[in-house]
Amino acid sequence: MSDKRETLGFQTEVRQLLQLMIHSMYSNKEIFLRELISNASDAADKLRFEALAAPELLSDDTELGIRIEIDKDKGLLSVSDNGTGMSRDELIDNLGTIAKSGTAEFLQQMTGDKKHDSNLIGKFGVGFYSAFIVADKVVVETRRAGLAADEAVRWESDGQGEFSIEGIEREERGTRVTLHLKTDASEFSEPFRIESLIRKYSDHIEFPVSLLASESGDDEAKVINSATALWTRSRSDVSDDEYKEFYKHLSHDFADPLLWSHNRVEGKREYTSLLFIPGSAPFDLWNRDTPRGLKLYVQRVFIMDDAEQFLPLYLRFVKGVVDSSDLPLNISREMLQQSPDLIAMRSALTRRVLDMLQKIAISDKDNFQKFWGEFGQVLKEGVVEDHANKDKLAKLLRFATTHSGTDSQDQSLADVVGRARKGQDQIYYILADNYATAAASPHLEQLKKRGIEVLLLTDRIDAWLADGLVEYDGKALVDVARGALDLPDDDGTDAQDAVSEEHDRLLQKIQGALGDRVAAVKVSRRLVDSPACVVAGDDDLNPQIRRMLEASGQTVPDSKPILEINVDHPLVASLSAESDDGRFGELSSIILDHAMLAEGAQLANPAEYVQRINKLLLGIERGADKSEQGSAENRS
Ligand code: ADP
Ligand code: MG
Repeated sequence: MSDKRETLGFQTEVRQLLQLMIHSMYSNKEIFLRELISNASDAADKLRFEALAAPELLSDDTELGIRIEIDKDKGLLSVSDNGTGMSRDELIDNLGTIAKSGTAEFLQQMTGDKKHDSNLIGKFGVGFYSAFIVADKVVVETRRAGLAADEAVRWESDGQGEFSIEGIEREERGTRVTLHLKTDASEFSEPFRIESLIRKYSDHIEFPVSLLASESGDDEAKVINSATALWTRSRSDVSDDEYKEFYKHLSHDFADPLLWSHNRVEGKREYTSLLFIPGSAPFDLWNRDTPRGLKLYVQRVFIMDDAEQFLPLYLRFVKGVVDSSDLPLNISREMLQQSPDLIAMRSALTRRVLDMLQKIAISDKDNFQKFWGEFGQVLKEGVVEDHANKDKLAKLLRFATTHSGTDSQDQSLADVVGRARKGQDQIYYILADNYATAAASPHLEQLKKRGIEVLLLTDRIDAWLADGLVEYDGKALVDVARGALDLPDDDGTDAQDAVSEEHDRLLQKIQGALGDRVAAVKVSRRLVDSPACVVAGDDDLNPQIRRMLEASGQTVPDSKPILEINVDHPLVASLSAESDDGRFGELSSIILDHAMLAEGAQLANPAEYVQRINKLLLGIERGADKSEQGSAENRS
């Protein structure tokens, strides 16, 4: 390895992150220590794993641990570990770039407002770069396990945009990160301060974290933390704060988790799981390539991060640890996939998450609403994907409905069923692109008049959700904008209005005027205040799904709407009385176009529509002129 010094630039994203972090995390400086210890612990975990296959990597340095040294006079603090260490290439990659996809877009959301940005940064996870919150120079010396002493490397930076790299000699394996503390961060060279921070942030780390302070005159470092893996302890011995800190270490999240569940399973299969629901969604929740899953340990030995096999995709927001006593230590992702233990563990862990959510859905509504706001849309995927747990999932769903009159999704299906009218054996829903369109839809008029509650579904996934759900508590889910609508009448029986001959003639005339723009024209049982609405046939593609498929560039089979007419509406009465065939056709077209617009649909030919309306307005004006003239004449 050459020892010539090389200067390299940080990736743009790192530069942005550094700047933002130093400004927005000012009031929370101390977290740098948690991040550095967390990295050291990860490196020790990884080495223990690598040593399973290559024991020689440990050589005679077999006691893995983390050591913090402070030199108050020089203003130095260092965190050392004897974990994997990094090769030159790893060092350049890991501490010069951010590999996470979507980082650039994420950083663009930063505004310069401290509070806003520190929340966002928290979602991102601050990591190693947080050292620059308290240091104006950071030096990393590291030697990859398995490499020779003269293949070690030093990385050095002031966090301004560049870092230097040079080859060095280093006897010890692993990494030492040395911070040259800023003058306003001198508190971090005080032994008592560091000691209390280790207790606060790193007690759950399973490797001993020791402290050596130059001023104390000791040359023995003393171990500060309790150094047992948190999940191996009994639930009653772990405080909430310890769970929270462990979560932060595990998830790289900056904020507290919303809730957690810690369990040991004994018997045929033995394993411990500790599962966390984060307090807020990560920035890359919707990125399908984001690594997800639990951290897998086998008999306390770290095996892999992001073991996605233990939970279904729709629970991708869950963080946690699973520690198995049965899986072989040399298990790979591929072997895991085929392990007979896996299926049983996966369904047990899935149930555990759903049960934990159901528990707070009942006992802590505010927090459940918070959860729903962050992850509700992801959970809805489960109804489509996980039939075995459909009933459990259905209990967790929350909707905006016509009952509450706000767009917040806070009504459960049980709430809605509880308010059902006598004789109502269906649950009604409407799909729309947004809340305003749904709430004002003409399709709801009869239902509102009868006091029947309707779910207002406006999330992208809702069309699939409704299809997947089919029914709840024995009541079928029914789209109010589709097919014939059966409404429970006031006496609880279904009445089917017969269509009078006069109406029948009108329907046929409208059908004739609109031609192939509509599949049929019918008398509506849905409407009260609107003259008309369009509905989809029972077998037609739902209009929301159609629009989504079209937007994604897919060709979808053409289907025509059914136009439903409110025969009690004055506009329809005047249409019925119209003797001029040309005007009848124009009016029919406008009624159809308005029904489409009210749905949130786009008109096939907007210009034609505008012309028709203009003509109509002009007619009204002329009419008004005439009557004005008339009254003037009368006066004279
Ligand atoms: P994260 O821990 O979320 O991956 P960090 O910014 O904390 O992000 O660290 C970036 C990467 O640098 C780590 O993933 C790891 O590969 C490497 N790294 C950091 N500290 C150490 C260390 N003490 N030993 C070995 N590798 C380290
Ligand atoms: Mg880290």
